[in-house]
Amino acid sequence: MAMYSHSKISTFEQCPLKFKFRYIEKIVPDIEKSIELHLGNMVHRALEWLYIQVMNKKIPSIEDVIAYYSNQWEEHYLPDIVIVRKNLTEKDYFNKGVEFLVNYYLKHKPFDENTLEIEKRIVLDLDKDGEYKIQGFIDRLSYNLQTKEYEIHDYKTANNLPQQEKIDNDRQLALYSIAIKNLFGQDKEVCLIWHFLAHDKRICSKRTNEQLENLKKETIESIKKIESEKIFPYNKTRLCDWCEYRTICPAFSDCSGQKIS
Ligand code: SF4
Repeated sequence: MAMYSHSKISTFEQCPLKFKFRYIEKIVPDIEKSIELHLGNMVHRALEWLYIQVMNKKIPSIEDVIAYYSNQWEEHYLPDIVIVRKNLTEKDYFNKGVEFLVNYYLKHKPFDENTLEIEKRIVLDLDKDGEYKIQGFIDRLSYNLQTKEYEIHDYKTANNLPQQEKIDNDRQLALYSIAIKNLFGQDKEVCLIWHFLAHDKRICSKRTNEQLENLKKETIESIKKIESEKIFPYNKTRLCDWCEYRTICPAFSDCSGQKIS
């Protein structure tokens, strides 16, 4: 039985060697994490906390949300967090998070979106024998009483804003929607919603059942490709600047003899 996640498959697609370091050799990196990852984690924590309060029939003030975010930021900030963009400081990243949260709060208050669950874990069989499985966490699941649709929400803190076409082909939330249909019924409508916080913008997408069936097959093929890989070559891209294995990667020494793609 093979248990995968969207990020595990994406890591292989980004760089097979990074996949090998992280998931096969399980190497604990020297560098703990990037500040972008820290920012994303802390904003997610603050939004998770906000919606837990809402589900408990309390709407915290924006000051409460920012205070929670600030405490989390300090509590989890480690001295070896890497800041790749040298023109920015820790304070700049902290302030970005404040801006994201303030904009989100003002746009969504009073948060009456009928939230059902926060950080919902899903496990999904891609094939009928359960040989290939996907697991993941939905940032927030809600049921829209007006449209009668389930909504899978995902928060993004990166600077990029993808085109609709890319969103319509995104794998992660589409896979999660299969799990939601398995739970609530294949005839149910599921809306995928990305909140691009750096742009104060949300983008939605939907999939047909036929598209979801095809996605399951494509994902199994991706997993089979990983499992048949023998060499795990590196793939040097601009994302290497944020890679936690850069200090041990042969792409950054001339000893490996591998070809840089
Ligand atoms: S530094 Fe780049 S090439 Fe090396 S493992 Fe990381 S992502 Fe792959």
